[in-house]
Amino acid sequence: MKIIGIEHIGIAVKDLSKDAPFWSKVLGIDRSKTEDVDGQGVITDIYNTGRGKIELLLSKYPDSPIGKFIEKKGPGIHHVCLQVESIDDSIKALKENKIEIIGDTPTIGAEGFKVIFIHPRSAGGVLVELAERNDS
Ligand code: ZN
Repeated sequence: MKIIGIEHIGIAVKDLSKDAPFWSKVLGIDRSKTEDVDGQGVITDIYNTGRGKIELLLSKYPDSPIGKFIEKKGPGIHHVCLQVESIDDSIKALKENKIEIIGDTPTIGAEGFKVIFIHPRSAGGVLVELAERNDS
């Protein structure tokens, strides 16, 4: 498995209009895009520092993964995403190491990345996303 770097940090928010100005205005990070990722029931509002992104995650439905997370833990850091060279090689290596992944095959996440999530039980309490750029 080859890790390329930190792609983004996902942060669950309750209210984009209230929470986004901290990142955009106070810290002055450029918003690269806002995307509706309906498959995950989430609106992603993406800020690019140039060396890793901040992804604000707003739940579209109360029973989406982000909706449930906020219900249980409140707003805050939801996951860390590492960019990998190959998602398929990564999944194979994770399975060989008996690491628990969520779902068996990659899904398409924000910005068209092929993504898979590692269960926090296998990663010291942190939800880890692996993402392969999918330019094709
Ligand atoms: Zn993510």
